[in-house]
Amino acid sequence: MEFLVRPVRNQPDVAEVRYDCACGCKPRARYHKGVDEANHEHCCCGRVHFVGMNAGQRLQAYLTERRAQGEDAGIAYSLHATAVQAPWGDSIPVAYALPDAPKAH
Ligand SMILES: [Zn+2]
Ligand SMILES: [Zn+2]
Repeated sequence: MEFLVRPVRNQPDVAEVRYDCACGCKPRARYHKGVDEANHEHCCCGRVHFVGMNAGQRLQAYLTERRAQGEDAGIAYSLHATAVQAPWGDSIPVAYALPDAPKAH
């Protein structure tokens, strides 16, 4: 998984973190400088990435909640963490989960 960072037009404190998914989508999530939150996109194929503060914890909480709702029955995820650099130099935490059997696009 290779994540790319893009500035957002007219929003100097926002960066978009995206990747080219193997399914053909281009999932993206926004990072807001200095804000204690993480945003995510859950791709159609089942891959999901979180971007922002405590991205790893938030990803785990999200998956736990989905499992509790019965939405991920039979799916096992592998969890990963990385970081990318914001246009203003900060390190942006990125966490992502890969399902053992991604769905078709
Ligand atoms: Zn995908
Ligand atoms: Zn897709």
